[in-house]
Amino acid sequence: MNATRTIAIVGGGFAGTTLARALDRSLPAGFELLLISEESYSTFHPMLPEAVGASIFPEQVVAPIRQMLTRGRFIMGRVASIDRQARTLRCATLAGDIEVHFEHLVLAIGNRARLDLIPGLAEHALPLKTVGDAMHIRNTVLRRIAQIELEDDPVVRRRLGHFVVIGGGFSGVEVAGELVDCLKSIRRYYPRVAAGELKVTLLQDQPRLLLELSERLGRAAQRSLEARGVDVRTRRRATVVHADSVMLDDGAVLQSATVICTIGTRPNPLLETLGLPIERGRMVVRGDLSIENAPGIWAIGDCAQVPNARDGRVAPPTAQFAVREAHCLARNLVAAVTNRPLEQFDYRARGSMAAIGHMKGVADIFGVPLWGLPAWLLWRAYYLSQMPTLGRKIRIFVEWTWGMFFPTDITHLRFTRSQEIVDSVGPAPRQV
Ligand SMILES: Cc1cc2nc3c(=O)[nH]c(=O)nc-3n(C[C@H](O)[C@H](O)[C@H](O)COP(=O)(O)OP(=O)(O)OC[C@H]3O[C@@H](n4cnc5c(N)ncnc54)[C@H](O)[C@@H]3O)c2cc1C
Repeated sequence: MNATRTIAIVGGGFAGTTLARALDRSLPAGFELLLISEESYSTFHPMLPEAVGASIFPEQVVAPIRQMLTRGRFIMGRVASIDRQARTLRCATLAGDIEVHFEHLVLAIGNRARLDLIPGLAEHALPLKTVGDAMHIRNTVLRRIAQIELEDDPVVRRRLGHFVVIGGGFSGVEVAGELVDCLKSIRRYYPRVAAGELKVTLLQDQPRLLLELSERLGRAAQRSLEARGVDVRTRRRATVVHADSVMLDDGAVLQSATVICTIGTRPNPLLETLGLPIERGRMVVRGDLSIENAPGIWAIGDCAQVPNARDGRVAPPTAQFAVREAHCLARNLVAAVTNRPLEQFDYRARGSMAAIGHMKGVADIFGVPLWGLPAWLLWRAYYLSQMPTLGRKIRIFVEWTWGMFFPTDITHLRFTRSQEIVDSVGPAPRQV
């Protein structure tokens, strides 16, 4: 691997893949585009709660990165170190460690889940950050209900049927809404489980839900959740998480075997190895998305602290901003290698959307509030438009439409291999 004029992008999320797709079309002659990411697919994080609630299958919230590129090259691997002086990076791949030389390097590595905010969180709570997390939560929920069916002790039954979601931002509200709808629709397949034995509690330490949206929409989301039976507790913080309970800051103890955590992020550890300024866990970048004292190194998306020329504020860590920063950087990279002036990142947010349950949403588009089915359809349409290739768009559209009108799938898919069930009279495999 010794290309001298390589533009390397690390991270195949919203930011990295949007940048790669834009550069794929506009790459100047003599340059090679290389995208490196840990997984072979890009994850549509905003749709993970729908995968948790079994509204859609996990494979419908990911898109294969190779299908997004025509001229660019993709390497599945984890970048472990970057040498800024030598302009090389080391990457762990299926074929062992490789070294890549670059002329320009873009960091689009997002952030990681943080599990040390509350004692017991790391040991007992289920984070939601990856497709694997979504599948694990979905299987755990199905396992809990299957267990209630066979359990006689009413205290244990109640604990198994109580799902606590920590965090009243987008993902917490979406998970709580999806879960309560999912539990309601699948209960008919578990005749020994009563409706009153299944419960979802949402904990939010702020005065209201969805601080990212207007107060009106935040309240509308809360009313919608409460009308469907979610116990929404605002101004309430979890202080300790145990295997079978959660303690709150008012001394209350919630008996629950399943705690889902949607709060807290921590910086990607790769950022800290670079010796460049980091603020609030994000790499400090200039308005043109370059990094001071690091020529040829750029950062965008959740891992970057990007000043927005439109309002002088730091761009929020959302998919919408990650995508816009990527488009701006694509133009700046082409300008940089053709010696033209760079532009400043300048973007007015179009609004925000959240899916708050099956076929229910809230949205604020250019200040116009929307809720219910129209908001939800808009939400789905936006993420469908982000899928690569026409074929995939059509397939996902058909599958999503199908899922709107037919019962929730309760398949508890496990990856049990033949080797594990050779002794068919032995104990059942313990995996979730
Ligand atoms: C559950 C959930 C719900 C959300 N809901 C919304 C929403 O409703 N609306 C909204 O706007 N935003 C939402 N977000 C936030 C949104 O998903 C992020 O802002 C967006 O994904 C940021 O894109 P990114 O490309 O910067 O980072 P990411 O999408 O996190 O991508 C980073 C990529 O870098 C890869 N990577 C990391 N380190 C390395 C390495 N060392 N080597 C190689 N590859 C590496 C990762 O595997 C990943 O593919 C949500 C996030 C979550 C977790």
